[in-house]
Amino acid sequence: HRTPLSLLGLGAMGTALARAWLAAGHPVTVWNRTPARAEALAADGAVVADTAAQAVTANTLVVVCLLDDRSVGEVLDGTDLAGRDLVNLTTGTPAEARERAERSRRSGARYLDGGIMAVPPMIGVPESGAHVFYSGSRELLDRHGPTLGVVAGTTYVGADPGFAALHDVALLSAMYGMFAGVAHAFALIRKEDIDPVGFAPLLADWLVAMAPSVHDTAERLRSGDYAKDVVSTLAMQVAGTPTFLRTAEEQGVSTELLSPYFALMRRRLDGGGGAEDHTGVVDLLAR
Ligand code: NDP
Repeated sequence: HRTPLSLLGLGAMGTALARAWLAAGHPVTVWNRTPARAEALAADGAVVADTAAQAVTANTLVVVCLLDDRSVGEVLDGTDLAGRDLVNLTTGTPAEARERAERSRRSGARYLDGGIMAVPPMIGVPESGAHVFYSGSRELLDRHGPTLGVVAGTTYVGADPGFAALHDVALLSAMYGMFAGVAHAFALIRKEDIDPVGFAPLLADWLVAMAPSVHDTAERLRSGDYAKDVVSTLAMQVAGTPTFLRTAEEQGVSTELLSPYFALMRRRLDGGGGAEDHTGVVDLLAR
């Protein structure tokens, strides 16, 4: 016996979720604003609801995966959520998730928010490492853990319904920092006779070697000691920044991605952080 569920939203992600649940033998009722997207799933055994309200009524477990929080509001408006277990896998902000949780509570529904750390091809593939950050009702995750675990691993990050979104966005923000650095690195070698494909493993290995510095930063943030056992002081790092800027200039590369970070390092140095590592930048940002 597999838990039946309703799924609202059949975009790229919703469709991947539906396929994974159907493949695992869960009875799935689907609804999508544009009905054509449900046709292929109907052929795979999904029940297609005519309206969002019907889909919500069909099962206790209701999963939504829509474009953004606004579309969730539009879709759930006018549905009866009383007694439902609502799992919202739509990407949003922490405040949006908290507001959604509060509205659900007033409607008589339990609420679990999720932030998907995967792209659609990773869904339903345990080896892919796909997982979803969940926050809100722990009871709901305990009850539906086996069902939710079919599509991706489950990582509970707290009762505050906003925490899943916060973890999701925090990780993706770090990813964009990495993308920015990678873009600058490739730009530096772009006009030279250096094969980007040969350069790539050097770059990737370096990023992997540097990734554990995350743990060091975390320990420093926890202890408040940013200067203990520092191997690369901020003073030394700031002294080195002209080399990075001049190299960019020599190669004809814009420094617009690098400069904002250098400016923060400089500000912390000027504030007396020369003997520290780069952890103090966190405090400059988190005002
Ligand atoms: P798509 O753009 O493929 O699909 C968007 C879905 O939202 C469609 O079902 C669309 O319906 C529906 N929708 C949009 N606006 C409205 C509206 N006003 N009323 C009703 N339905 C609406 O997006 P994805 O499926 O890729 O993404 C869904 C969620 O999953 C997003 O929050 C995204 O951030 C998140 N996510 C996606 C990832 C990805 O790689 N794709 C990765 C991680 C998270 P219609 O078919 O009628 O247009």
